[in-house]
Amino acid sequence: MFKAYDELPKSFVLRRHIDIENNKKERRIVMLSSLIVFIGMFVLLGFIGVSVVFGIEHMFLMIFSIFVYIFLHEGLHVIAFHLAKDVRVKYKWHGFAVSASVPNKYFDKRHYIIIGLAPLVVLSVALITALVLVSSPLWFIYCFVLLAFHLSGSVGDAYVVWVVLRQGEHVLVNDYGAGMKIYGI
Ligand SMILES: [Zn+2]
Repeated sequence: MFKAYDELPKSFVLRRHIDIENNKKERRIVMLSSLIVFIGMFVLLGFIGVSVVFGIEHMFLMIFSIFVYIFLHEGLHVIAFHLAKDVRVKYKWHGFAVSASVPNKYFDKRHYIIIGLAPLVVLSVALITALVLVSSPLWFIYCFVLLAFHLSGSVGDAYVVWVVLRQGEHVLVNDYGAGMKIYGI
């Protein structure tokens, strides 16, 4: 469906380097936006006005669900990476996040946007559908907390897609896990 390139064409030069781990300014933007989304979701929950008391078993289930969520989130990035042939995904733990990346390939713009947005789109639809369908306040809040975690956790992906979108039409993205290098003509 897409082609991932082994080498950068000669006319391409580095246009932008996204380095959330080491670039203080970028890290601050992402962390702060993520926190605002997380707090915003709980303010919204306050407006909706549903409240329940979570038991210890629900707490354990929530922690377990967050692990399942991280697995699904990265899995969707991986599926999207594989829309191109001969892609070998590498996994890294960065202390504050897990990343799936393909360090030795260059992805075109449209493909990379799909890679970046796949978890945000698919899991938002799934969690919002679950919110609408659940019948008890307990499961509503349970899904809502997961949605808050999901939206705030996807801020980094949204930031990367936003940066890629602002580049010219002919760009190639190299995702090496801790960051992305965007090349253009
Ligand atoms: Zn992600």
